[in-house]
Amino acid sequence: FCTGSIGTMTRRTGSGFLLLALGVLGLRYTFVGSSSGARSSRVAMEAERKFIVGGNWKANGSPESVKKLVEELNEGEVTSKDVEVVCAPPFVFLSEGQGTLRKDYAVAAQNLWDKDPGAWTGETPAQMLADMGIKWVVLGHSERRENCGETSQIVAEKTKFAVDKGLSTLTCIGEKLDARESGKTFDVLDEQLKPLADVLSEEDWEKVVLAYEPVWAIGTGKVATPEQAEETHAYIRKWLKENVSEKVSDSVRIQYGGSVNDKNAAELGKQPNIDGFLVGGASLKGGGDTGRSRELGTLRSPHD
Ligand code: PEP
Repeated sequence: FCTGSIGTMTRRTGSGFLLLALGVLGLRYTFVGSSSGARSSRVAMEAERKFIVGGNWKANGSPESVKKLVEELNEGEVTSKDVEVVCAPPFVFLSEGQGTLRKDYAVAAQNLWDKDPGAWTGETPAQMLADMGIKWVVLGHSERRENCGETSQIVAEKTKFAVDKGLSTLTCIGEKLDARESGKTFDVLDEQLKPLADVLSEEDWEKVVLAYEPVWAIGTGKVATPEQAEETHAYIRKWLKENVSEKVSDSVRIQYGGSVNDKNAAELGKQPNIDGFLVGGASLKGGGDTGRSRELGTLRSPHD
């Protein structure tokens, strides 16, 4: 899709997950293409930040359902180079994903071990992922922060380790409900961002995508409003400008995650500081508004 062109958006076939990417691009690029004057340089930067949609399959899937999901994803008509698609299967399906997903979709692990290969029973070192041709890793998801004791410091160190091994990261940040309700959202984000800023060089940030995922919106069906999400994304960008650099602030892509689906994606995606989505539940479902409703996985999340 070129800037300002929505012609291809009418070909709405493929999985719900991909429809979500297609639908949002139509609106986003119409918006970008119609801007002028004082907004033009900001809008040019927006267009520079390639839209990126990640599917976090979490700990879901069976050999049968993964095969079907891959088939459906491969049928999707995401023909543009303007949207990057990254699928994050569970570890046991990583090789299958790598081998059977279309080559223009990237594959991500959902975690890594930030040590070199060796005597680490049960862990998967970053180097092994890189050696397998895996290009991406999801880090700091709230479910790992909550259930596996991953602190912001650990998440920052893993992010740095991943980047040093040549991997790109979808590094997740986001506040819980009590912080949102008590007006502490930005304090939580400061605390999560600071260790990242401490360990990453300006060059490292080129391999980092931030996923802003308010914990209260993950797997709950309660999506942040476009205004709430945009306000928070704009805050993150401002924080990066003040604490890292203007270049990083302008170029880092910030995904929104939390109950995104093909019905709410377009409005969220129109926001100038939202550069993509990290999608859980909807990334396991086929059909979308094509009517081919094929539920391909049973989502089990502690948030359900
Ligand atoms: C996620 O797991 O990162 C997520 C955003 O899940 P969901 O889309 O189901 O809310």
